[in-house]
Amino acid sequence: MKLDKKVCIVTGAASGIGLGIARRYVAEGALVALADLNLDAAGAAAAELNAAGPGEAIGIAMDVTSEDQVNAGVAQVVAKWGTVDVLVSNAGIQIVNPVENFAYADWKKMLAIHLDGAFLTSKAVLPHMQAQGSGAIIMMGSVHSKTASPLKSAYVTAKHGLLGLARTIARENGPKGIRANVVCPGFVLTPLVEKQIPQQAKELNISEEDVVKKVMLGQTVDGEFTTIEDIAEVALFFASFPTNALTGQSLIASHGWFME
Ligand code: NAD
Repeated sequence: MKLDKKVCIVTGAASGIGLGIARRYVAEGALVALADLNLDAAGAAAAELNAAGPGEAIGIAMDVTSEDQVNAGVAQVVAKWGTVDVLVSNAGIQIVNPVENFAYADWKKMLAIHLDGAFLTSKAVLPHMQAQGSGAIIMMGSVHSKTASPLKSAYVTAKHGLLGLARTIARENGPKGIRANVVCPGFVLTPLVEKQIPQQAKELNISEEDVVKKVMLGQTVDGEFTTIEDIAEVALFFASFPTNALTGQSLIASHGWFME
Protein backbone atom coordinates (compact mmCIF):
# COMPACT_ATOMS: atom_id res chain seq x y z
CA MET A 1 0.00 0.00 0.00
CA LYS A 2 1.35 3.37 -1.01
CA LEU A 3 0.10 5.42 1.94
CA ASP A 4 0.01 2.87 4.75
CA LYS A 5 -0.89 4.68 8.03
CA LYS A 6 0.00 8.06 6.51
CA VAL A 7 -2.04 10.83 8.12
CA CYS A 8 -3.72 12.93 5.44
CA ILE A 9 -6.01 15.95 5.49
CA VAL A 10 -8.09 16.62 2.39
CA THR A 11 -10.07 19.86 2.37
CA GLY A 12 -13.34 20.10 0.46
CA ALA A 13 -13.57 16.31 0.74
CA ALA A 14 -17.32 16.01 1.22
CA SER A 15 -17.84 16.15 -2.55
CA GLY A 16 -16.31 15.81 -6.00
CA ILE A 17 -12.55 15.66 -6.46
CA GLY A 18 -11.70 15.91 -2.75
CA LEU A 19 -13.91 12.93 -1.94
CA GLY A 20 -12.33 10.97 -4.81
CA ILE A 21 -8.86 11.69 -3.45
CA ALA A 22 -9.89 10.70 0.08
CA ARG A 23 -11.35 7.44 -1.30
CA ARG A 24 -8.13 6.66 -3.21
CA TYR A 25 -5.95 7.45 -0.19
CA VAL A 26 -8.01 5.25 2.16
CA ALA A 27 -7.76 2.44 -0.40
CA GLU A 28 -3.97 2.83 -0.08
CA GLY A 29 -4.11 2.45 3.70
CA ALA A 30 -4.09 6.12 4.70
CA LEU A 31 -5.73 7.71 7.74
CA VAL A 32 -7.71 10.50 6.13
CA ALA A 33 -9.50 13.51 7.63
CA LEU A 34 -12.20 14.74 5.28
CA ALA A 35 -12.34 18.46 6.12
CA ASP A 36 -15.30 20.41 4.81
CA LEU A 37 -17.73 23.21 5.49
CA ASN A 38 -20.42 20.57 5.25
CA LEU A 39 -19.70 18.40 8.30
CA ASP A 40 -22.73 16.15 7.81
CA ALA A 41 -21.68 15.23 4.28
CA ALA A 42 -18.03 14.85 5.30
CA GLY A 43 -19.03 12.59 8.18
CA ALA A 44 -21.27 10.44 5.97
CA ALA A 45 -18.53 10.11 3.34
CA ALA A 46 -15.98 9.24 6.02
CA ALA A 47 -18.25 6.52 7.42
CA GLU A 48 -18.51 4.97 3.97
CA LEU A 49 -14.74 5.09 3.41
CA ASN A 50 -14.08 3.70 6.88
CA ALA A 51 -16.29 0.74 6.15
CA ALA A 52 -14.45 0.11 2.87
CA GLY A 53 -10.94 0.36 4.44
CA PRO A 54 -8.18 -0.68 4.66
CA GLY A 55 -7.33 2.83 5.89
CA GLU A 56 -9.49 4.97 8.16
CA ALA A 57 -11.46 8.16 7.67
CA ILE A 58 -13.03 10.84 9.83
CA GLY A 59 -15.05 13.90 8.91
CA ILE A 60 -14.04 17.23 10.42
CA ALA A 61 -15.66 20.67 10.27
CA MET A 62 -13.50 23.28 8.61
CA ASP A 63 -14.07 26.53 6.81
CA VAL A 64 -10.68 26.95 5.16
CA THR A 65 -11.03 30.74 5.25
CA SER A 66 -11.14 30.74 9.06
CA GLU A 67 -7.73 30.59 10.73
CA ASP A 68 -9.33 29.41 13.98
CA GLN A 69 -11.27 26.60 12.28
CA VAL A 70 -8.24 25.50 10.27
CA ASN A 71 -6.04 25.41 13.36
CA ALA A 72 -8.71 23.59 15.37
CA GLY A 73 -9.22 21.02 12.60
CA VAL A 74 -5.50 20.32 12.25
CA ALA A 75 -5.20 20.09 16.06
CA GLN A 76 -8.06 17.56 16.08
CA VAL A 77 -6.27 15.40 13.51
CA VAL A 78 -2.95 15.59 15.37
CA ALA A 79 -4.68 14.72 18.66
CA LYS A 80 -6.18 11.62 17.01
CA TRP A 81 -3.37 10.39 14.79
CA GLY A 82 -0.24 12.16 16.08
CA THR A 83 0.90 14.15 13.05
CA VAL A 84 0.09 15.21 9.49
CA ASP A 85 1.98 13.61 6.60
CA VAL A 86 -0.05 14.84 3.63
CA LEU A 87 -2.20 17.93 3.07
CA VAL A 88 -4.40 18.20 0.02
CA SER A 89 -5.65 21.78 -0.16
CA ASN A 90 -8.60 21.20 -2.45
CA ALA A 91 -11.65 23.14 -1.19
CA GLY A 92 -12.92 25.48 -3.85
CA ILE A 93 -15.89 27.14 -5.46
CA GLN A 94 -16.53 28.83 -8.78
CA ILE A 95 -18.17 32.17 -9.52
CA VAL A 96 -18.43 33.25 -13.17
CA ASN A 97 -18.98 36.81 -14.39
CA PRO A 98 -17.21 39.26 -16.65
CA VAL A 99 -14.77 41.52 -14.76
CA GLU A 100 -16.94 44.61 -15.04
CA ASN A 101 -19.85 42.75 -13.42
CA PHE A 102 -17.83 40.77 -10.90
CA ALA A 103 -18.95 41.81 -7.42
CA TYR A 104 -15.99 42.81 -5.24
CA ALA A 105 -17.41 40.65 -2.45
CA ASP A 106 -17.37 37.64 -4.82
CA TRP A 107 -13.77 38.40 -5.84
CA LYS A 108 -12.70 38.47 -2.19
CA LYS A 109 -14.65 35.30 -1.41
CA MET A 110 -12.97 33.45 -4.28
CA LEU A 111 -9.46 34.54 -3.28
CA ALA A 112 -10.21 33.72 0.36
CA ILE A 113 -11.34 30.14 -0.30
CA HIS A 114 -8.69 29.27 -2.88
CA LEU A 115 -5.66 31.27 -1.71
CA ASP A 116 -6.20 32.02 1.97
CA GLY A 117 -7.41 28.45 2.38
CA ALA A 118 -4.22 27.00 0.87
CA PHE A 119 -2.08 29.40 2.91
CA LEU A 120 -3.83 28.78 6.24
CA THR A 121 -3.93 25.00 5.93
CA SER A 122 -0.27 24.87 4.82
CA LYS A 123 0.74 27.16 7.67
CA ALA A 124 -1.07 24.93 10.17
CA VAL A 125 0.40 21.61 9.00
CA LEU A 126 3.97 22.73 8.32
CA PRO A 127 5.19 22.71 11.96
CA HIS A 128 4.10 19.05 12.27
CA MET A 129 5.80 18.09 9.01
CA GLN A 130 8.94 20.03 9.98
CA ALA A 131 9.07 18.28 13.36
CA GLN A 132 9.18 14.87 11.67
CA GLY A 133 11.32 15.97 8.71
CA SER A 134 8.87 14.85 6.02
CA GLY A 135 5.58 15.73 4.40
CA ALA A 136 3.76 16.40 1.17
CA ILE A 137 1.57 19.39 0.43
CA ILE A 138 -0.63 19.14 -2.64
CA MET A 139 -2.67 22.06 -3.90
CA MET A 140 -5.61 21.75 -6.26
CA GLY A 141 -4.76 24.05 -9.13
CA SER A 142 -6.39 23.83 -12.52
CA VAL A 143 -5.67 24.23 -16.20
CA HIS A 144 -6.62 27.75 -15.12
CA SER A 145 -3.30 27.86 -13.22
CA LYS A 146 -1.74 28.00 -16.70
CA THR A 147 -4.18 29.76 -18.97
CA ALA A 148 -7.30 31.91 -18.82
CA SER A 149 -10.94 31.64 -19.84
CA PRO A 150 -13.53 34.38 -20.03
CA LEU A 151 -15.73 35.05 -16.97
CA LYS A 152 -13.26 33.48 -14.52
CA SER A 153 -11.03 36.35 -13.41
CA ALA A 154 -10.96 35.50 -9.71
CA TYR A 155 -10.62 31.76 -10.31
CA VAL A 156 -7.80 32.16 -12.83
CA THR A 157 -6.02 34.64 -10.56
CA ALA A 158 -6.30 32.37 -7.54
CA LYS A 159 -5.26 29.23 -9.41
CA HIS A 160 -2.20 30.99 -10.86
CA GLY A 161 -1.39 32.20 -7.34
CA LEU A 162 -1.29 28.65 -5.99
CA LEU A 163 1.72 27.90 -8.19
CA GLY A 164 3.62 30.70 -6.46
CA LEU A 165 2.60 29.55 -3.01
CA ALA A 166 3.52 25.90 -3.68
CA ARG A 167 6.89 26.85 -5.16
CA THR A 168 7.72 29.06 -2.18
CA ILE A 169 6.74 26.34 0.29
CA ALA A 170 8.88 23.90 -1.74
CA ARG A 171 11.90 26.24 -1.54
CA GLU A 172 11.50 27.03 2.16
CA ASN A 173 10.88 23.43 3.17
CA GLY A 174 13.00 21.35 0.80
CA PRO A 175 15.80 21.15 3.35
CA LYS A 176 13.22 19.93 5.89
CA GLY A 177 12.08 17.03 3.70
CA ILE A 178 8.74 18.54 2.73
CA ARG A 179 7.50 18.67 -0.87
CA ALA A 180 4.83 20.94 -2.36
CA ASN A 181 3.19 20.37 -5.73
CA VAL A 182 0.11 21.41 -7.67
CA VAL A 183 -2.39 19.20 -9.52
CA CYS A 184 -3.96 20.94 -12.52
CA PRO A 185 -7.15 19.24 -13.75
CA GLY A 186 -9.08 20.00 -16.89
CA PHE A 187 -12.87 19.91 -16.64
CA VAL A 188 -14.15 17.19 -14.30
CA LEU A 189 -17.89 16.58 -13.97
CA THR A 190 -18.52 17.49 -10.34
CA PRO A 191 -21.23 19.67 -8.74
CA LEU A 192 -18.88 22.66 -9.24
CA VAL A 193 -18.85 22.15 -13.01
CA GLU A 194 -22.46 21.02 -13.38
CA LYS A 195 -23.52 24.36 -11.87
CA GLN A 196 -21.42 26.29 -14.38
CA ILE A 197 -22.97 24.78 -17.51
CA PRO A 198 -26.29 26.69 -17.41
CA GLN A 199 -24.55 29.82 -16.05
CA GLN A 200 -22.04 29.92 -18.89
CA ALA A 201 -24.74 29.16 -21.47
CA LYS A 202 -26.59 32.25 -20.26
CA GLU A 203 -23.53 34.52 -20.06
CA LEU A 204 -22.11 33.44 -23.43
CA ASN A 205 -25.55 33.19 -25.07
CA ILE A 206 -24.96 29.66 -26.38
CA SER A 207 -26.62 26.30 -25.68
CA GLU A 208 -25.62 24.13 -22.73
CA GLU A 209 -24.49 21.48 -25.22
CA ASP A 210 -22.13 24.02 -26.80
CA VAL A 211 -20.77 25.01 -23.39
CA VAL A 212 -19.75 21.39 -22.87
CA LYS A 213 -18.59 20.60 -26.44
CA LYS A 214 -16.94 23.90 -27.36
CA VAL A 215 -16.07 25.81 -24.21
CA MET A 216 -15.19 23.00 -21.81
CA LEU A 217 -13.93 20.21 -24.05
CA GLY A 218 -13.30 21.94 -27.39
CA GLN A 219 -9.56 22.07 -26.94
CA THR A 220 -9.06 18.56 -25.56
CA VAL A 221 -7.51 15.93 -27.84
CA ASP A 222 -10.56 13.66 -27.65
CA GLY A 223 -13.57 15.62 -26.36
CA GLU A 224 -13.50 13.77 -23.04
CA PHE A 225 -13.97 15.00 -19.50
CA THR A 226 -11.13 14.29 -17.08
CA THR A 227 -12.46 12.07 -14.27
CA ILE A 228 -12.32 12.28 -10.51
CA GLU A 229 -10.35 9.02 -10.57
CA ASP A 230 -7.77 10.55 -12.95
CA ILE A 231 -7.16 13.39 -10.53
CA ALA A 232 -7.08 11.10 -7.50
CA GLU A 233 -4.35 9.11 -9.26
CA VAL A 234 -2.22 12.24 -9.76
CA ALA A 235 -2.81 13.28 -6.14
CA LEU A 236 -1.70 9.81 -5.05
CA PHE A 237 1.44 10.10 -7.19
CA PHE A 238 2.40 13.40 -5.55
CA ALA A 239 1.58 12.14 -2.05
CA SER A 240 3.50 8.87 -2.35
CA PHE A 241 6.50 9.89 -4.45
CA PRO A 242 9.43 8.19 -2.74
CA THR A 243 12.04 10.96 -2.77
CA ASN A 244 12.23 14.72 -2.52
CA ALA A 245 13.10 15.07 -6.21
CA LEU A 246 9.54 15.90 -7.16
CA THR A 247 8.80 19.28 -5.63
CA GLY A 248 7.71 22.73 -6.75
CA GLN A 249 5.98 21.17 -9.77
CA SER A 250 2.55 21.27 -11.35
CA LEU A 251 1.05 18.43 -13.36
CA ILE A 252 -1.79 18.96 -15.83
CA ALA A 253 -4.32 16.17 -16.42
CA SER A 254 -6.77 17.56 -18.95
CA HIS A 255 -6.99 15.26 -22.00
CA GLY A 256 -4.47 17.55 -23.66
CA TRP A 257 -6.57 20.71 -23.33
CA PHE A 258 -3.44 22.52 -22.23
CA MET A 259 0.02 21.25 -23.16
CA GLU A 260 3.38 22.56 -21.91
P1 NAD B 1 -17.23 20.38 -5.49
O1 NAD B 1 -18.16 21.55 -5.46
O2 NAD B 1 -17.73 19.05 -5.90
O3 NAD B 1 -16.54 20.21 -4.05
C1 NAD B 1 -16.00 21.28 -3.36
C2 NAD B 1 -16.07 20.99 -1.87
O4 NAD B 1 -15.43 22.10 -1.20
C3 NAD B 1 -17.51 20.92 -1.34
O5 NAD B 1 -17.64 19.74 -0.54
C4 NAD B 1 -17.65 22.16 -0.49
O6 NAD B 1 -18.51 22.01 0.64
C5 NAD B 1 -16.21 22.42 -0.07
N1 NAD B 1 -15.96 23.80 0.32
C6 NAD B 1 -16.35 24.93 -0.32
N2 NAD B 1 -15.96 26.00 0.36
C7 NAD B 1 -15.29 25.56 1.44
C8 NAD B 1 -14.64 26.20 2.53
N3 NAD B 1 -14.61 27.53 2.65
N4 NAD B 1 -14.03 25.42 3.46
C9 NAD B 1 -14.08 24.07 3.37
N5 NAD B 1 -14.68 23.42 2.38
C10 NAD B 1 -15.28 24.16 1.42
O7 NAD B 1 -16.01 20.87 -6.40
P2 NAD B 1 -14.84 20.06 -7.17
O8 NAD B 1 -15.10 20.20 -8.62
O9 NAD B 1 -14.61 18.74 -6.57
O10 NAD B 1 -13.61 21.03 -6.87
C11 NAD B 1 -12.58 20.73 -5.95
C12 NAD B 1 -11.35 21.53 -6.32
O11 NAD B 1 -10.92 21.16 -7.63
C13 NAD B 1 -11.56 23.04 -6.35
O12 NAD B 1 -10.42 23.70 -5.82
C14 NAD B 1 -11.68 23.34 -7.83
O13 NAD B 1 -11.31 24.65 -8.15
C15 NAD B 1 -10.70 22.32 -8.39
N6 NAD B 1 -10.90 22.03 -9.81
C16 NAD B 1 -12.07 21.50 -10.25
C17 NAD B 1 -12.20 21.23 -11.60
C18 NAD B 1 -13.46 20.66 -12.15
O14 NAD B 1 -13.59 20.64 -13.39
N7 NAD B 1 -14.37 20.15 -11.34
C19 NAD B 1 -11.14 21.50 -12.49
C20 NAD B 1 -9.98 22.05 -12.01
C21 NAD B 1 -9.86 22.29 -10.64
